[in-house]
Amino acid sequence: MHESTEQNWPEGRIVDRLPVIVYASELGENGRWRYISPQVEEILGFTPEEFLADPGLWARLVHPDDRLRALAVESRDALGNRDTRPVEYRMYTKEGRVVWMLDEAVLEADAHGIPVWHGVLYDISERKTAEIDLQRSLAQQAVVARLGERALKNGDPEALMRDAVNLIGELDGVEFACIWEVGRDGRRLNLRAGLDDTALASGRRVSAGRESHAGAALDSGVPIIVGDWSEDERFSMPPAVRALGATSSLAVIIDGKDRPFGVLDVHSAEPRRFDPKDVPFLEASANVLADAFERHAADRALRHRVLHDALTGLPNRLSFVDSLDDALGRASVSGSPVGILFLDLDHFKLINDSLGHHAGDALLRAVAPRLRAHLRPGDIVARFGGDEFGILIDRLADDAEAVAIAERVAAAFAQPFSMQGVDHFVNASIGIAVARLASGQSTNAELLIRDADAAMYRAKESGRNRTVLFDAEMRATAARRLETERELRGAIDRDELELRYQPIVNLRTGEVTGLEALVRWRHRERGLLDPADFVGVAEDSGLIEPIGRWVQERAARQILEWHELRPDDRPLDVAVNLSARQVAHRGLAANVAEILARTGLDPVHLRLEITETVLVEESASAIASLEALNELGVRLVLDDFGTGYSSLAYLNRYPFHALKIDRSFVDTLGVEQEGTAIVEAVIGMARALSLDVIAEGIENDVQLAELRRLECDYGQGHLFHEALRPEEISRMIAAGSLDYGPVPAGPASADAARITSRPQRSRKVE
Ligand code: C2E
Ligand code: MG
Ligand code: MG
Repeated sequence: MHESTEQNWPEGRIVDRLPVIVYASELGENGRWRYISPQVEEILGFTPEEFLADPGLWARLVHPDDRLRALAVESRDALGNRDTRPVEYRMYTKEGRVVWMLDEAVLEADAHGIPVWHGVLYDISERKTAEIDLQRSLAQQAVVARLGERALKNGDPEALMRDAVNLIGELDGVEFACIWEVGRDGRRLNLRAGLDDTALASGRRVSAGRESHAGAALDSGVPIIVGDWSEDERFSMPPAVRALGATSSLAVIIDGKDRPFGVLDVHSAEPRRFDPKDVPFLEASANVLADAFERHAADRALRHRVLHDALTGLPNRLSFVDSLDDALGRASVSGSPVGILFLDLDHFKLINDSLGHHAGDALLRAVAPRLRAHLRPGDIVARFGGDEFGILIDRLADDAEAVAIAERVAAAFAQPFSMQGVDHFVNASIGIAVARLASGQSTNAELLIRDADAAMYRAKESGRNRTVLFDAEMRATAARRLETERELRGAIDRDELELRYQPIVNLRTGEVTGLEALVRWRHRERGLLDPADFVGVAEDSGLIEPIGRWVQERAARQILEWHELRPDDRPLDVAVNLSARQVAHRGLAANVAEILARTGLDPVHLRLEITETVLVEESASAIASLEALNELGVRLVLDDFGTGYSSLAYLNRYPFHALKIDRSFVDTLGVEQEGTAIVEAVIGMARALSLDVIAEGIENDVQLAELRRLECDYGQGHLFHEALRPEEISRMIAAGSLDYGPVPAGPASADAARITSRPQRSRKVE
């Protein structure tokens, strides 16, 4: 049979050399083989003889999954059809290997009318493997892409890990995937995602050592392939992985910037499912996870930084406001009051100044745990900045409880703080505000903090080291301030501001040398308001800036008018008050220069009075402001001296020309021995520093006599004149009655004539 067929193929030798199997066989699953070329042995391991002897062999060798497809063409219908489609199917070789065949044949009847296939079998295994690899790699790439997309959309690591194992688990041939995280001790890997509850019953940990496949991947950083768990001698199979019926596995490290996060592994029910071609995919997935975890950790660190105070580690104001808003939200449902304490250390600046900033920082750090120790677990302590702390007390019974807690917190300061080996006693002023939302009152975090701040301020005002509860009266005050601010906004435009002028007298001669401009507000309903009624509001709201510019310009023009009125006399100086906020403003010197230029006032005739508390703040911008003003040639006067904390020794650091002794000291003159001694010391020191001294609030002759005895240069007060309308000053200038007549004779009166024509400073230099 074989021989006869061979004669049908005259070019047999060429056929024998083609890299394909040429054949002729009868139709049907068990059709007889008439010819099959010798290459069959090379490709399938069976000789042509074995085929010719066994008609059922071919069908038996076809892969069971492909059999239907392969046999579908075995039909008479194909007879004479010249363009039958080639068929692809897998066949087993004699050794059990799988090869892909492409079968291309035509069915024709032989001379006896028997249908015979004349065909060619190509070995397309290589192409097929490449194709399958491509498919697999495309599917893998799609998984990585989708994973990357999810990682960007959702930063939550927990959800991302679940997504990752689900996506990877959907791949062909992958039974399941797992993510393991290195434990804190570095000795175990804990399962974070990938197994269901049944598998988890057998344990969610593996060793991070080299005896486990995941541990080895973690330790070496090199991917680990287990071809067949039943044959593997290197690793013991994790019970959970065994429970799910894995036969082969691949594990890669999920690496982090500082330390590895853990391991990602995939498992298959087929042996040898994974090879090095799968590594890049799994590594890419692991990298997506690593990046996402890294990003999440960075986000968290950033969030922590944004919401916490670096010095004490406490939540900061931002975070406090958040928590308070939440608490208020809950309270609006539950109805229980929410309380906050606003705590400010007393004289913290003194500690900072005398012991240094490091000691100040150490104190703030030591305060934090003390506050915590006196609170309940749910309460929140935050640092607002500087020496200010906020405490949130959720679920209060009533105001009394808030006060009791505040007292307890205050008691935390009964023990001294040890700094640089020395015990220091530090006190705190505490403001309390309680929100009761059940009574229909609505509030928000900022408003409540403002109330507590106001109460704290009241505690400071009433002597520090105490607690004050924000009450209805304070609320009314706060409301009034808001109203005042609203009305003050339009006051300049409505031309409601006015200036009064209080003459400043040379105490030796009685001559008026200058005038202090003092602002007033003519309110439509409330009448003429003093600075005490609105300057504080103007400072808090920033309105003091435009008001200040208005005052300066108005005062400058006014004093020039008075210069005109008495051209032969020494020109009067005008003094204008500046508040701390104005001094801290960067544009101050430029504004003043502009006003001087616009009005034409000589800078030596402009005095700017700056309250002493500006120095206590000692801010860089304030100092820069003072220096810039001095450059302009205007004179700086330190106002309200004695009410702040600035020591006299400190004064020569600033370009002051004069200092004004506060009214409270002048009040004591002739009444209190100690007060007189202080004034005497101040005048002596000022003289040593070449500063003029002005006494304010002189109301009687006793005070005047004392000041003259102490050789105080200048004074102002009701004894001479109160603050007067400008028309009145003009009238007095015209009448020549401005100067103070009856100055009693004193040590300096002899050379009064000479001195009145000279500024005081030159006298001292002489
Ligand atoms: P100050 O600069 O210390 O002004 C002196 C205050 O003492 C003035 O009160 C004045 O009327 C008052 N006074 C003067 N002599 C006597 C006296 O013999 N006895 C008593 N009991 N009081 C006397 P005033 O005008 O109410 O001003 C209060 C404060 O308001 C000023 O204190 C100053 O710090 C501030 N101020 C006034 N005008 C302005 C302004 O235009 N801008 C700024 N920023 N602050 C101003
Ligand atoms: Mg003043
Ligand atoms: Mg004053």
